[in-house]
Amino acid sequence: MHDIDSIRELLQTTRRIAITTHAKPDGDAIGSSMALYHYLRKKGHKVDVVTPTVYADFLKWLPDNDKVLVGPEDPDRAGWIFEGADIIFCLDFNGLSRINDLEKPVKDAMGKRVMIDHHLDPQPFYDLAYWDPQASSTAELVYRLIGELGDHEHIDLPIAQAIYMGVLTDTGSFRFSNTSPAVHRMVAHLMEIGVDVNEIYDSIFNQGTVTRLQFLGHCLSECLTILPELKTAYFKVPREVFRKYNVRVGDTEGLVNYALSIRDINLAVLMTQQDDLTKLSFRSRGTVSSAALAEQFNGGGHFYAAGGRLQATPEDTEKKLLELLEASKEQLVS
Ligand code: 5GP
Ligand code: MN
Repeated sequence: MHDIDSIRELLQTTRRIAITTHAKPDGDAIGSSMALYHYLRKKGHKVDVVTPTVYADFLKWLPDNDKVLVGPEDPDRAGWIFEGADIIFCLDFNGLSRINDLEKPVKDAMGKRVMIDHHLDPQPFYDLAYWDPQASSTAELVYRLIGELGDHEHIDLPIAQAIYMGVLTDTGSFRFSNTSPAVHRMVAHLMEIGVDVNEIYDSIFNQGTVTRLQFLGHCLSECLTILPELKTAYFKVPREVFRKYNVRVGDTEGLVNYALSIRDINLAVLMTQQDDLTKLSFRSRGTVSSAALAEQFNGGGHFYAAGGRLQATPEDTEKKLLELLEASKEQLVS
């Protein structure tokens, strides 16, 4: 779904542009947003980036990160930005429920909403879309969009670094099945522009604290359940554990993948207690759809990676999960 001609036309004159992305933004959310920010500014537009929530410190090294507005920290200003925008780019999400309190200002805005995204089953909240569920990342889509607008040669280092952050994190450092030949071709181009892959890897993945490592250790030894007969492994992490290790935003990133690293496991789930909610992360392989499971928990995502949430304790969430798994046993063990 590529409304490229309409997008090209929209950008023909100088515009006031707002860029927003999903709550708890990950590397692709921030990377794609900052790539588009740098590109559109270079083209002479006035651009603001607004996020619905805070995000991890290891995503803050990109140039101009200090220009990003965390919506809840200044809701009035966030409101004015959306109100005054000619165009609102909606990056890396497929439904307004993913942007928390920004839902209303984005919905009520007069400007055109342009979704750039790669999640399955988008909700019809947008005016124009640049959408491809086969794309590795929204950052890859921003790269393609810039190309389709005839500006590949205008990709400079800040744009390239931001795209690289998005594709690196969403492909699990180029090991997930969404890593295509096109991804590697794009990365070759980004490296030619000057992206330092080793430095960026360190900036993102080697910024941990000792307590984060101890938190991971605790989860691996105390919070993991294996169900060989369902080829499933899941973590259930209660609130107290988060407190004990002073867990900070971003610290659970990657944890769920450890469960999928076990031999003969087709489904990995991470359940974490957050206020009155239990958040779920799903990762799968083979014929097991993470998105289908996440949909049973008010969420969605991709076939092999998805998320959801339930207004329930981890115990009640676990109960519901186990019932669902029993019902889809055939698929899990195939
Ligand atoms: P995570 O488990 O890392 O939070 O999310 C895995 C993937 O699913 C990410 O691409 C994330 O954007 C997506 N995701 C998480 N929650 C939701 C949701 O509620 N709806 C949709 N459509 N995608 C989600
Ligand atoms: Mn993404």
